[in-house]
Amino acid sequence: MARPVWLGVGWVSSGTRPQGLAFERRRFAAAALFVGGTLTLLYLGISSAVAARRAALDADALEKARIVLTLQELRPLGPDVRTIEVERGDTLTGILVDQGIADFEARAAVSALSAVYDPTSIRARQTVTVTFAPEGSPLVSIALKPSVERDLLIKRGEDGAFAVEDNVKQLAAVERRAKGVIDGSLYASAVAAGVPDAVVVDLIHIYSYDVDFQREVKAGDKFDLLYTTYVDETGAAIKGGDIQYAELTLGREKKPLYRFTTADDNVTDYYTPKGWSGKRQLMRTPVDGARLSSKFGLRRHPVLGYTKMHKGVDFAAPKGTPVMASGNGVVRQARWHGGYGNFIELTHSNSYSTGYGHLSRIARGIKPGVRVRQGQVIAYVGSTGRSTGPHLHYEVMLKSKQINPMGVKLPTGRELTGKDLLAFQANVGRVQTALNAVPGEGAKVAQARTLP
Ligand SMILES: [Zn+2]
Repeated sequence: MARPVWLGVGWVSSGTRPQGLAFERRRFAAAALFVGGTLTLLYLGISSAVAARRAALDADALEKARIVLTLQELRPLGPDVRTIEVERGDTLTGILVDQGIADFEARAAVSALSAVYDPTSIRARQTVTVTFAPEGSPLVSIALKPSVERDLLIKRGEDGAFAVEDNVKQLAAVERRAKGVIDGSLYASAVAAGVPDAVVVDLIHIYSYDVDFQREVKAGDKFDLLYTTYVDETGAAIKGGDIQYAELTLGREKKPLYRFTTADDNVTDYYTPKGWSGKRQLMRTPVDGARLSSKFGLRRHPVLGYTKMHKGVDFAAPKGTPVMASGNGVVRQARWHGGYGNFIELTHSNSYSTGYGHLSRIARGIKPGVRVRQGQVIAYVGSTGRSTGPHLHYEVMLKSKQINPMGVKLPTGRELTGKDLLAFQANVGRVQTALNAVPGEGAKVAQARTLP
């Protein structure tokens, strides 16, 4: 703002030199003084206006600060609780430091925790809850939930040191029985009877060797199930457990299976009352049966026109439903195959081979020559090739000739003998006692009995 005054002074001195006349000098001097004075007045006016504006702004800021202070006084002093979801690659110390906790403090808390829990075992989607005091935001506690039944709390004590509370919920194993009439689908009916989702998925898997879930299960068929589940003190099921016994009644045929672990190899399987494994060389339902269309059977063939390829069977399921290798074998082809769309062929022992068509996607690593295990996910249901909706086209060949997949019932699992058979029979007796203790009368009613 000093610049206009200097300009005025400069003009006075430049005006005196070129002209010799005193009159001109006076005129110049008067003009220079006039301009300089005007500019000075202008400068003083502007600077006083700026000062006044600044003062007004300061007053405004003061008023605002006062309001904020008042609001802070009015706000209740609650703790600051933050819940963070663990992401892949996170470390507990890193999470704490990200929340503004000093590095040395985060390390001290994690070190206290490591006495009861390995901090490197935190996993994605687990949560960490950090609580700060309302004033000056010192860290109060850190809570973790490593499993459904365990809570960990790192708390700062009076002395400033961290201490850890390890609360493990006492879960009781209870044996539950669920009986019901199938209406809609086995999956829907069992879930409606209160059977946990994971247990129903297991149930369907156990029977996938023997049962075609798309065609063989009909409205009015029955299920009966004895399974272990883990409940908290309120009786709420916290996690599902193993199926001890299952029975499907399809039409007039009863299909009971008992869980048993053979002592020599520690392998768990499901056996018929005679001690024969329920496994077959090839699965009847080589797709996640829980996701099959709930309609019984297929009213209309999902492929336009009836062609030679329809010696196979079709399973209508949502796009992306996992498709499993129906038996142990080797991949013979995994490629685009005309009307079959994306197609896989596997060869198995005893001159059997299986084909899977209309796949949306072939699983990674599935290519000719690769060995696959029964039940391994090899692809996903789709509608590629000549198909009008997502479904798995499944066919079985014996010596390269298509045969009815229903006809293949070669057992592959163990047949219990000797000591194993005796131990198995004792287990069958125990299950019968349990079934009698929990009659499970009435459809869709699950009843429980606490395990000793
Ligand atoms: Zn088909």
